[in-house]
Amino acid sequence: RQALGIGVRTRRYGQKALAFAVTHDRPHHNVSTEVHRSGGPFTLVPLPDRDGRPSSAVVWMEDGRETARLKSLDRAAFEDALNARSAGVLGHLRQATALSEWPIISQIADRFAGPHVALIAEAAHVLPPIGAQGLNMSLADLDSLLDLMRASPGDADALRRYDRERRPEARARMLGIDALNRASQAGSRPLRDLRAAALGGLYAAAPVRRLMMRAGLGMR
Ligand SMILES: Cc1cc2nc3c(=O)[nH]c(=O)nc-3n(C[C@H](O)[C@H](O)[C@H](O)COP(=O)(O)OP(=O)(O)OC[C@H]3O[C@@H](n4cnc5c(N)ncnc54)[C@H](O)[C@@H]3O)c2cc1C
Repeated sequence: RQALGIGVRTRRYGQKALAFAVTHDRPHHNVSTEVHRSGGPFTLVPLPDRDGRPSSAVVWMEDGRETARLKSLDRAAFEDALNARSAGVLGHLRQATALSEWPIISQIADRFAGPHVALIAEAAHVLPPIGAQGLNMSLADLDSLLDLMRASPGDADALRRYDRERRPEARARMLGIDALNRASQAGSRPLRDLRAAALGGLYAAAPVRRLMMRAGLGMR
């Protein structure tokens, strides 16, 4: 992307994500759970059992100052904070791997294609990790590219079509995830109430929930 001189638009949120694995008492039944509170969402993503116990990956987003504080805690204090934050959705959580830290940004390339080049995945778009969009969007990029390149790989018209197909779709998803993330960050009381109402309404309405799941799965 840089070699082609394709620019990006980047939005920084001042948030970071701590990522690590946990084991827990209750099975996850292969369901991913997001707990929304001020600071950012806390997500449990199902993993295969570890040491004979149910296990999940945690993605814990907070303001950068708070992730620095959490990282400096000793293990017992960190697990207390972890269990307070998870609201007990999978029973008691135990930290199973070291913490890795990720800056949270939204970013989109100005173009998704150039001469003989297509940008896919995070070279094209980066989103906050909410609603499991990242990998699915990347697979949709590949799907579209495979379709368009079948006849003549590298064809300039087909690459322009790839850009026209994928960029608006990626931008729309980015705006949606940006709104959810901002709602999740909101600290003031009225905004918190609004966020709770919006998220409650979103997840309570079965057709909307199905739509979000289909979007997360990259289905059209
Ligand atoms: C904390 C966190 C949690 C996430 N959770 C989810 C989730 O639950 N579901 C989901 O769908 N998505 C999730 N995502 C998003 C997902 O990780 C990304 O969408 C996906 O990894 C992007 O794939 P990629 O191939 O573009 O980049 P990457 O997976 O980052 O792969 C790029 C690779 O290129 C290598 N590389 C970089 N520079 C060079 C170089 N110069 N030469 C050679 N190799 C190089 C890197 O080492 C890396 O291996 C999450 C992201 C984060 C940060």
